[in-house]
Amino acid sequence: MPFSSLGLGAALTRNCAEAGYTAPTPIQARAIPEILAGRDLIACAQTGTGKTAAFVLPLLQRLSSEPAPSGARTPRALVLAPTRELAAQIAASARASGAGLNVRNLAVFGGVSPRPQSQALARGIDLLVATPGRLLDLHAQGAVKLSAVRHVVLDEADRMLDMGFIHDLRRILKLLPEVRQTMLFSATFADDVRALAERFLREPAEVSITPEMPASEGVAQHSIRVPRAHKRALLAWLIGQHPEWDRVLVFARTKHGADKVARQLSADGIPAAPLHGGKSQGARTRVLDAFRGGTTRVLVATDVAGRGIDVPLLPSVINFDLPNVPEDYVHRIGRTARAGATGVAIALVTPEDVEHLQRVERHLGRKLPAYDVAGFAPPASAPAEQPAPGAGKKAAPRPGSGSKPRSRGNQGKPGAARKSGRGGQRRDGGGQKPRARSGGRRQGGGRGQG
Ligand code: AMP
Repeated sequence: MPFSSLGLGAALTRNCAEAGYTAPTPIQARAIPEILAGRDLIACAQTGTGKTAAFVLPLLQRLSSEPAPSGARTPRALVLAPTRELAAQIAASARASGAGLNVRNLAVFGGVSPRPQSQALARGIDLLVATPGRLLDLHAQGAVKLSAVRHVVLDEADRMLDMGFIHDLRRILKLLPEVRQTMLFSATFADDVRALAERFLREPAEVSITPEMPASEGVAQHSIRVPRAHKRALLAWLIGQHPEWDRVLVFARTKHGADKVARQLSADGIPAAPLHGGKSQGARTRVLDAFRGGTTRVLVATDVAGRGIDVPLLPSVINFDLPNVPEDYVHRIGRTARAGATGVAIALVTPEDVEHLQRVERHLGRKLPAYDVAGFAPPASAPAEQPAPGAGKKAAPRPGSGSKPRSRGNQGKPGAARKSGRGGQRRDGGGQKPRARSGGRRQGGGRGQG
């Protein structure tokens, strides 16, 4: 089905083709006609499904075809997003898709000076993308008028609720004109999301993508069991084993943890940087640019900062720590296998993480295939009986067996992996490639586990 059959105009269709979008994704095919028809919409779709374009394209279409109100050019469409990164990405997507259309867009978010944002608003904006707090601040200062808003999108509504934005959202929605189109996008339809939709949407069309299978289809997911003391070494080893992973997104639970993991990978010669809410907006932008540009190979992110990172064709996501909230697992692995590409998602599971893994598996409705990597396996595991396909002949020294793998440099050449028998089939692309390659430049390392 071509984009043009969805009712989008020539300029938008052309811009899609230029972006390499040959056909609409399922969420786009279903949501775009509803939005163009002016209906309210509740859409269940994860990051990676093409959900941004599912609302950006029809909004641009409507804004470019509706007559602009006379007088000051105040926002006619408003998109609310949970994080700065996501807001910036949505605006960038609107800018790219809207090339050649007379639609001005702007992202406003906290963490940076509000003055340039107020100035841009004063010059006139049609499509405003905002995080809730900054929008309310700008509104309180009289820097933004919301009286002309006719279309509003709540993007990643579940996340905004998780982050405690409910009061801000209610306040904002009450500031908007009654007559408007409201669209809510969410990765889950939890009760609080439904309640929000019931309160603020009118007879919405409902579109749901892959409700049965919450995790992205193209992602080969599995877990690797590892004692806590060897987790960082295993991470470096895995990355070293996979030169084809040009970008690796690693998730850590805390800012401190993200800093530490990034520091240690860098010390091992793997270009890595942390991304978390403790960094200034400028630093976050620089880190993301370096990651997108390929100078930083590994990004170690926390959930809040990692949300909405848009890096096309991200081949691998590693859950260094599993999230506390199982829904976050789905969001995290939504970074890979985007829009049809394939990817791998690996969870490193220490004995302390088993409960988190079980919660994730309950949420997914299935068990993740679990493996041990010889040389990093928990002491209780028996030696590999059945090496994974193509596993190396040389088994690695086993932790706790007198020849501890020496730090992140991986001199141990661990190789044989074996499935624990807990899950389904071994999926390809995992961390068990037997070829022993150093995770870092330090062959003789000498740094201990930190
Ligand atoms: P999103 O789910 O909005 O985060 O989008 C995920 C990725 O898919 C982004 O990199 C988009 O540029 C890309 N994308 C969106 N729509 C399409 C499409 N129709 N065909 C190919 N890629 C797309």
